[in-house]
Amino acid sequence: MNIAVLKEGKLSERRVALTPDVVKSLTKAGFKCGIESDAGHASGFYDGAYEAAGGIIFPDRAALLKDSDVLLKVNAPTPEEALLMRDGSALISFLYAYTVPELVDICLSKNISAFAMDAVPRISRAQKMDALSSQANLGGYKAVLLGANALGKIFPLMMTAAGTITPARVLIFGAGVAGLQAVATAKRLGAVVEVTDVRPETKEQVESLGGRFLEVQAEGVKTEGGYAREVSAEYLQKQKELITKHIADADLVITTALVIGKKAPLLVTEEMVASMKPGSVIVDMAVESGGNCALSEFNQTVVRHGVTIIGESNLPAMVPVNASELYAKNISTLLLHLATKDGFKWEMDEEVTKGSLITHQGELVHQFTREILA
Ligand code: NAD
Repeated sequence: MNIAVLKEGKLSERRVALTPDVVKSLTKAGFKCGIESDAGHASGFYDGAYEAAGGIIFPDRAALLKDSDVLLKVNAPTPEEALLMRDGSALISFLYAYTVPELVDICLSKNISAFAMDAVPRISRAQKMDALSSQANLGGYKAVLLGANALGKIFPLMMTAAGTITPARVLIFGAGVAGLQAVATAKRLGAVVEVTDVRPETKEQVESLGGRFLEVQAEGVKTEGGYAREVSAEYLQKQKELITKHIADADLVITTALVIGKKAPLLVTEEMVASMKPGSVIVDMAVESGGNCALSEFNQTVVRHGVTIIGESNLPAMVPVNASELYAKNISTLLLHLATKDGFKWEMDEEVTKGSLITHQGELVHQFTREILA
């Protein structure tokens, strides 16, 4: 089977779908890996390293895609890239298919079988393929560093001859993958960390990392498979009352709250921002899905009411070496699950295939995507 890896075109994207190490193991397993020139350059993986691992470098992407059976990417291909793909070939990348109807149409008309990394079910068997988690984990880490850097204070308690510095206070919304990594990172740097999440089971996880869990005394949360599915207006009101007291004391706020399949919940209002101390910082990790903070702006850093609000949507791309290493492991594990060197297995009732396959043989087979695009 011929694999193609393209250089990512999205602005600020520095990750690459396969690293030389993973190319080496796929080559050993009988796959042929074609890599577009400079595909790994921005993450420090140069063409020579891919060649040494058994990959073939293609200066011309049309020539690469013409003979490829599967295209591996980080971000969804552009329509122009998809049009260069061979009819009947396969694609694996982050897709968020319901947001790219034009690409879905091209996949349908060219009989491209498209698998979405963002739709791989979060079940224990598929943990090694879970790129959402591997990237959110790095994002949570980087969010703390960006916040710390923008703050005019240090994190740890410091007793010096010139006086005592009190530790910074960090408030984190959401204790999923990104949030828990943010707790761990902020604690390591010496901050006092407080956390709010609607799922009560996260309390123990937060406390085991040394964070303080802010418990909302209210009903109205539906959870399923480790995700929040629905949060009532009454719960959000009670949460707001509780948080209002804590946000005014926070030096850094990191928001990662996500309700699956919905716009990000609005948790930090303008009033709350105005109540914060001048010079404090908010990092809104949910900015791509609408933002948890009313004043955050997509891919911008703005100062409102004296508070710096960072709305960076691609934090994993700021640590492209590790992000590419983990992503390459995720995507190659999925590929090896779905295919052998001789072709795809097409086990249509198998859970991972069923969860992640969006288009196949000219049909939109993914129910969730079909419902949204209908
Ligand atoms: P996750 O599903 O593991 O965690 C989200 C958490 O939010 C869950 O624990 C959920 O219970 C909690 N939550 C829902 N409603 C809440 C509320 N009202 N108050 C407090 N908590 C609430 O998701 P994740 O993988 O950790 O990702 C978190 C967010 O970060 C997502 O929006 C994701 O798209 C985003 N993300 C951004 C970047 C970036 O570069 N900016 C990178 C990775 C992930």
